Amino acid sequence: MLTIGLLYPELLGTYGDGGNALVLAERARRRRLDVEVISVGIDDDVPDASIYLLGGGEDGPQRLGADLLRRSTFPLRVRDGRYVLAVCAGLQILGTSFAVEGDDEYEGLGLVDVVTHRGERRSVGDLVVRVNERLLVGFENHGGRTTLGPGVEPFGVVERGRGNDGTVDGYTTSTVWASYAHGPVLAMNPWFADEVLERVLGRELAPLPTVADQLYEERRALLAR
Ligand code: GLN
Repeated sequence: MLTIGLLYPELLGTYGDGGNALVLAERARRRRLDVEVISVGIDDDVPDASIYLLGGGEDGPQRLGADLLRRSTFPLRVRDGRYVLAVCAGLQILGTSFAVEGDDEYEGLGLVDVVTHRGERRSVGDLVVRVNERLLVGFENHGGRTTLGPGVEPFGVVERGRGNDGTVDGYTTSTVWASYAHGPVLAMNPWFADEVLERVLGRELAPLPTVADQLYEERRALLAR
């Protein structure tokens, strides 16, 4: 059974990032896999899950989400090897600290050695990231600039937009993918959804051609330099 834990969609749901759960679940179901999506509200305990999804959010909800997660079993479960896909505010929350509203530093969960400072301007617009040989398309809207600690691998190289700092976007570990790309990113990048599924399931999946591939190709052709 594949269990997808969608964390605090009422706080971290900017741009419909909860759609990432729908995409993972549907792509798994079409391969005849058993899937459960658990939407975890702010009053709920964080249940065990194969993968957790953390979306983007405005500064206030982001802080509340960070506080709730800090007091929950989530950090333990991530340290224990559960997978996480984190977008924007989610990316910042997993780090050591973030400062998005003014220069006040706010404590993150400290699960990954990254720090987010406040940038001079918000980064708003299309985002294209090269992830190995593939292009990931999405859009970004954030005030933070994220710096990776030594040894932390970026998720990809920015081809368009800003990502962390104008050169790279997000970060990746053996169990975490983090990007500034909204979209929701898995709906816009079916190849990435399948990479995530294959890693979580620990096996290769048969190709699943859908209209999402065509939409991806159209966006990629429009946005790639
Ligand atoms: N509040 C954060 C920032 O502005 C994240 C925004 C978001 O998730 N879109 O940097």
